[in-house]
Amino acid sequence: MKILGISLVSICIVIWSIVGVLIISTRPMAITYTQEQINSAIEYFNYDFVLAPDKEQQIKDINDLYGKDKNIKFEDINDLYGICNIMTRQVILDTELPRNMTAITLAHEFEHLNFVISEYKANYNAIIKLLESDKPYLVYQANLLAKTILLGGVSAEYDCTELLVKYKESLWRL
Ligand SMILES: [Zn+2]
Repeated sequence: MKILGISLVSICIVIWSIVGVLIISTRPMAITYTQEQINSAIEYFNYDFVLAPDKEQQIKDINDLYGKDKNIKFEDINDLYGICNIMTRQVILDTELPRNMTAITLAHEFEHLNFVISEYKANYNAIIKLLESDKPYLVYQANLLAKTILLGGVSAEYDCTELLVKYKESLWRL
């Protein structure tokens, strides 16, 4: 069978190759850092509390940061802070999501919409994106999540400690 002159077999091979790469890239990395390195990163990601604006303003700011224009739905999604559907491009945030985690959670979901499949990489990318923002409350949320991760506050698949340690150390070398 051919679709647009390309055989179905070739299409299947390409799809399977992509799936294979995605599966490999979602595996958390091996632990190669010391407690000392983590401690020094925890110190780096310290940032004074900045109160976030209301959730609507946070959504607008993250839409701007990611160049998106999305209406975000709020629903009761139990244990999760946010979910997204890659196919429909819909993002849903939990109604109980803390105000000071709204922006970073939405950034995490937007990373998924940008085809970052793994949870730890979506966390890391969202942190770096918000760290580079000129809005202090976004920088605060990025630091808060980074510190929570470095203190062991998230499950393994969300844990980007390795990347955060590397990020911090790359800055020291500048
Ligand atoms: Zn996620």
